[in-house]
Amino acid sequence: MAEQPLSFETLAIHAGQDPEPVTGAVVVPIYQTSTYAQEGLGKPRQGFEYSRTDNPTRRAYETCLAALEGARHGLAFASGMAATATCAHLLRAGDEVLCSDDVYGGTFRFFTRVMEKFGVTTRYVDTSDLEVTRRALTDRTRMLWVETPTNPMLKLSDLTALAGIARDAGAYLAVDNTFMTPYLQSPLKLGADVVVHSATKYLGGHSDVVGGALLTNNDAIYETLKFHQNAIGAVPGPFDCWLVMRGLKTLALRMDRHCQNAHALSELLAAHPQVAQVHYPGLPAHPHHLLARTQMRGFGGMISFEVKGGLESARKLVQSTRLFFLAESLGGVESLIEHPAIMTHASLPPERRAALGISDGLIRLSVGIENLTDLRADLEQALNAALPSRV
Ligand SMILES: *Cc1c(COP(=O)(O)O)cnc(C)c1O
Repeated sequence: MAEQPLSFETLAIHAGQDPEPVTGAVVVPIYQTSTYAQEGLGKPRQGFEYSRTDNPTRRAYETCLAALEGARHGLAFASGMAATATCAHLLRAGDEVLCSDDVYGGTFRFFTRVMEKFGVTTRYVDTSDLEVTRRALTDRTRMLWVETPTNPMLKLSDLTALAGIARDAGAYLAVDNTFMTPYLQSPLKLGADVVVHSATKYLGGHSDVVGGALLTNNDAIYETLKFHQNAIGAVPGPFDCWLVMRGLKTLALRMDRHCQNAHALSELLAAHPQVAQVHYPGLPAHPHHLLARTQMRGFGGMISFEVKGGLESARKLVQSTRLFFLAESLGGVESLIEHPAIMTHASLPPERRAALGISDGLIRLSVGIENLTDLRADLEQALNAALPSRV
């Protein structure tokens, strides 16, 4: 009888996590050790020699995340940016990166301010426009770097089409899957070469750890990335790996609730007279709603919206919520509210912000898994508090 492949929820709890062989502990221990006694000269036990290179807790976490992403290989890093920086070592001086124009601010900063120094140039295009993207490729383009949905405008890019465009150009397709997680979107199955994660967000899920990861099915890419993971050394400690692995066990449950809550709140916002526009891929009015329905298995927990009354109203609103904490970051169990122009996207030049639509009235929500009625009441009272003062 052919063995049935295990489903996502089961892999999250079992992949890489057999009971510990000595005591039978059902939870992978935190192997808080830097080195490993060898059996004899040149004979490490189980392949472990030094914890920058490999550590049992990290290996369990990498195995689990690879299983969830449908990847042959997984590599863990100290942060999402450490994963991004290590991935950039697939490139060499003279290469060019073509990047989604609405990427995570730290990614923009890394490619423009760090990689430029090493002779790798990056150009930014709207990757949701396939024709524009195709025309922007040159014979120097070695990597297409895509985020979908984007942050904070929640634009979508067609990954299957972009994989074809990248393949024709001999470029890698790297996809930042932080917003969707492997539960809602599988870029490798759609043709991506590398998936990038900030594990700080939904994978960890509890706003208590910073981490990152790279996943791939390509053995040659893996060898290069694995070499650089060890050579550069931006690796997570065992406790951080353990925390993210604990988060992964409930990823499916949490994402279902994030999606339900966000969808309901996006409808509340869309119907509210104080709101000019809502960006949420689950709304039929979203320009990429049809693509969202086929490419993703859910619409995610992130919403951005434009409040009427500009900065003054936005400031009142973000300072009036009680359950939605005013904070950067996203993807935790608790709901967060933030103002991209002043907070997460302040490092973008003002003209770039304007071109992307990140106005002074734009607000971003990371919708948590609290009770929907409570979240709804909180958002409504804050919207009312943000009404322009009547004279
Ligand atoms: C947070 C984030 C990153 C960077 O990850 P860190 O863990 O903060 O280094 C990259 N991409 C996206 C989409 C993010 O939200």
